[in-house]
Amino acid sequence: MELFFFYVLFSVLIGFHASSKGHSGINFFVLAILASPIIGFITTLMLSPTTEEIEDKEIASGNKKRCPECMELVKPDASICKHCSHSFT
Ligand SMILES: [Zn+2]
Repeated sequence: MELFFFYVLFSVLIGFHASSKGHSGINFFVLAILASPIIGFITTLMLSPTTEEIEDKEIASGNKKRCPECMELVKPDASICKHCSHSFT
């Protein structure tokens, strides 16, 4: 019974880990439960960061800023968005 508890606990952690990478936590939780937590864990390790996560890192490092109109990334010094011509004033 304790083993089952850790099995589920570990699967939940995998779900959280996957969702922190921008993937569906529920999907990986189900995968871990059905296959095994080990396989689920290996799969989350192989996940590449999503576009969203890469963009967040660029904004955090100050290389880019997000246009409030079109939500695209532009250079921090830009005065006009190259995607939608929104002017940053
Ligand atoms: Zn824009």
